[in-house]
Amino acid sequence: MATIFSKIAAGEIPSYCCAADEEFYAFLDINPMAKGHTLVIPRREVDYIFDLEDDELARLHVFAARVARAIKKVIPCVKVGEAVLGLEVPHAHIHLIPMQSERDMLFSNPKLKFPEEEMQAVADAIRSNF
Ligand code: 5GP
Repeated sequence: MATIFSKIAAGEIPSYCCAADEEFYAFLDINPMAKGHTLVIPRREVDYIFDLEDDELARLHVFAARVARAIKKVIPCVKVGEAVLGLEVPHAHIHLIPMQSERDMLFSNPKLKFPEEEMQAVADAIRSNF
């Protein structure tokens, strides 16, 4: 059975798309830790990120770096932080989180909610800077 992230990458479940190519997909996290919190996934369904082939993992990171640079242009932040957890969704993904301080990377923080129009505007801006 396809993962929820596969369905998102295939367009079967809606998402705020930030970047896409034939191999990878980036979209806003629905329960963000900061405005612009983005998830980057391989379209190929692999649960654990460190089970990806070496070259695929390298390409995923290069793609994520391009997304991070676009995020940084759109969201004023000190740096874009990267994290990998994968405890909730069994489809490899990288979290990219615009940081004002170390506290923005604490996954135990309460999650934020932004209006739909704001999420769409952020995703559109990231996509146009990608
Ligand atoms: P993790 O697997 O890294 O522990 O957490 C999964 C992340 O995916 C969480 O930050 C959660 O908010 C996000 N997430 C889970 N389901 C969806 C979804 O259907 N759409 C989007 N955009 N994000 C999701």
